[in-house]
Amino acid sequence: MNSKALLSTLIGFDTTSRESNLQLIAFVRDYLNEHQVPCELIFNDERSKANLFATIGVDDRPGVVLSGHTDVVPVDGQPWSVPPFELTERGGKLYGRGTADMKGYIACVLAAVPALLAEPLRMPVHIALSYDEEVGCLGVRSLLAELEQRPHKPALCIIGEPTELKPVLGHKGKLAMRCDVHGAACHSAYAPQGVNAIEYAAELIGELGRIGSTLRAVHLQDPRFDPPFSTVQTGMIGGGKALNIVPADCRFDFEIRTLPDQDAQAVVQQLQTYAREQVVPKMQAVNAATGIRFTELSSYPGLATDVHSEAAKLIAECCGSSEFTTVAFGTEGGLFDAIGIPTVVCGPGSMDQGHKPDEFVSVEQLAGCDRMLERLVAALRS
Ligand SMILES: [Zn+2]
Repeated sequence: MNSKALLSTLIGFDTTSRESNLQLIAFVRDYLNEHQVPCELIFNDERSKANLFATIGVDDRPGVVLSGHTDVVPVDGQPWSVPPFELTERGGKLYGRGTADMKGYIACVLAAVPALLAEPLRMPVHIALSYDEEVGCLGVRSLLAELEQRPHKPALCIIGEPTELKPVLGHKGKLAMRCDVHGAACHSAYAPQGVNAIEYAAELIGELGRIGSTLRAVHLQDPRFDPPFSTVQTGMIGGGKALNIVPADCRFDFEIRTLPDQDAQAVVQQLQTYAREQVVPKMQAVNAATGIRFTELSSYPGLATDVHSEAAKLIAECCGSSEFTTVAFGTEGGLFDAIGIPTVVCGPGSMDQGHKPDEFVSVEQLAGCDRMLERLVAALRS
């Protein structure tokens, strides 16, 4: 099967993160087995989702991982003009949810399997497919835990997130947090007797903004990233029952996107210190049963692969370009990197189309990815 036919099959599986990905995984397993490629499935606790890990070639030395996530973001409420879980070709573009992010790459990797098997390789090639990337890079963690145990940890990893086939060596890390402010309700006519959770949440959000502005300091900036500094953002807030009741509860979610060499936890600690020293004492002076709780929702580390690494050299050879860039979105790359597997991000399509209605990958980009993988096969022949 060529990459377009494979993409058509992959798009047909609704692998929105809230759904199971097992049908897609079973299809890939069967496809690989038909080619005598053994693979391993690593299930979640509920056995409703799985990662897949396959090895082509000798497994007695470090290899190259071709990695992608199988889940896609929801299409709910998006005005699609084509059926999202069916591949539609129109004007040189292939439409469907996940065409760019990132089943196009997975289709090309699978299409390259016969070529990878045709001649001996000087190092093995692994195919690693994960679940629940779009909801915080959750699935890949159990796969990485397995990889860490192996006698021959992979030498490098190529994650095919859509970069228009430009080699990407870096992205920011992200930490998503929730803050619950628990105050005390009372009739608003006696507001000072209550503890207004919304107003104290507002103090915390204001402080978060002030901490965020300190991250813009010129000496902290890295011009390879856009924006060139770490950012902080409050994205959700909820609280209160009625205007005439002092609100007992307020919850807000915020995120910190850090340059790879900066520490998101340090930002959270600053906010927690402020909460503990400046806010909680005021709340508890009125009512001792009040307080503030922080919960981590998700996180992934940033990625900053050395331009002079083997991973960078190999991807430059495969892409025919050594103009390395960075991207604004996150990937599983930081997690691979964190266990010592140098990682680059390079795949077909553009994130301009990712997560949007009428997502597409161009036929040209898909063919370009096929060529990139052909060059990889050539580079790995002994
Ligand atoms: Zn993605």
